[in-house]
Amino acid sequence: MLSVVIPSYNEEDNIGHTSEVIGEILSDNKIDYELIFVDDGSKDKTWEKIKALNSADSRVRGVSFSRNFGKEGAILAGLEACRGDAAVVIDCDLQHPPQVIPKMYELWRNGAMVVEGKKSSRGKESKTYGALSGLFYRLIESSSHIDMKNSSDFKLLDRTAIDALLSLPERGTFFRALSGWVGFETAEVYYDVAQRFSGKRKWTTGMLFNYAIKNLAAFTSAPLYICGVIGLIIAVAAFVLIVLNAVGVNTGSFDAAASVLMLIGGGILCCMAIAGYYISRIYDEVKRRPRYIVARTTEGKLADKGGNSVGGN
Ligand code: UDP
Ligand code: MG
Repeated sequence: MLSVVIPSYNEEDNIGHTSEVIGEILSDNKIDYELIFVDDGSKDKTWEKIKALNSADSRVRGVSFSRNFGKEGAILAGLEACRGDAAVVIDCDLQHPPQVIPKMYELWRNGAMVVEGKKSSRGKESKTYGALSGLFYRLIESSSHIDMKNSSDFKLLDRTAIDALLSLPERGTFFRALSGWVGFETAEVYYDVAQRFSGKRKWTTGMLFNYAIKNLAAFTSAPLYICGVIGLIIAVAAFVLIVLNAVGVNTGSFDAAASVLMLIGGGILCCMAIAGYYISRIYDEVKRRPRYIVARTTEGKLADKGGNSVGGN
């Protein structure tokens, strides 16, 4: 059975239509399914709509939050509640085209454990937004080795990958990157981002900014290295200037006193980066992500977070 997890925040006008469209596509393709709508603390009639659908068809199930916890939490709650052998995560506004689900399903039946939905076109968005999200993904890729280009939350995960993901101990999750981090055989499908079926997007600029900073910190220490390298460059330049001053070369406004100040500045930046590095190591340890995830054994498929059992920390 395939579970379809649908995070929904103030989507009263989309629930009915989305459920109908996805249900029809899956039935046409003879795929046994359940739909899990996760009401992320909506203020409109989203939950009432979900409940009404559930009374008419028990394949439509719902989870409702006490308040708005954000899409990441909604995705995890849906994965936690689902009973399928695999699950697809899809937006409620049909911007992720459900026509792609049967293709994901087929790739999964052919052995893929994770099927990543990748945007072949990004739909209507501003140039600045596209450039910023490109930079965000490049920074994450730089130290995590996860291919994030054009990635999205539209994915299919095999039960093994779902269990591995749910076993991760950290609080602040980033589904889009973690589904790659857990590994396993991965396939890709490309799709064009559609227009929202109804309503407006739920993210404010502030929410996006927070999302970017939080997930950059969770996946990369690149800003720290940049800070350290700049400090080092300043310190080396200051050292050269001091030597030049000492041998009597005219260095313009960089006299001996200015060069010493510059050396101190560069030194402080370097020390901050070193202290920051230790803090980032502490952060990694506090997250307590397992050190590896077992995909299968000779006894069959199973996901076991063997994190601390071999080799310790
Ligand atoms: N969403 C959610 N909680 C939130 C914000 C959004 O569950 O706090 C859901 C929303 O209902 C939709 C999906 O996440 O199904 C994507 O949101 P949206 O369409 O607003 O964002 P965009 O498509 O612009 O990324
Ligand atoms: Mg959307």
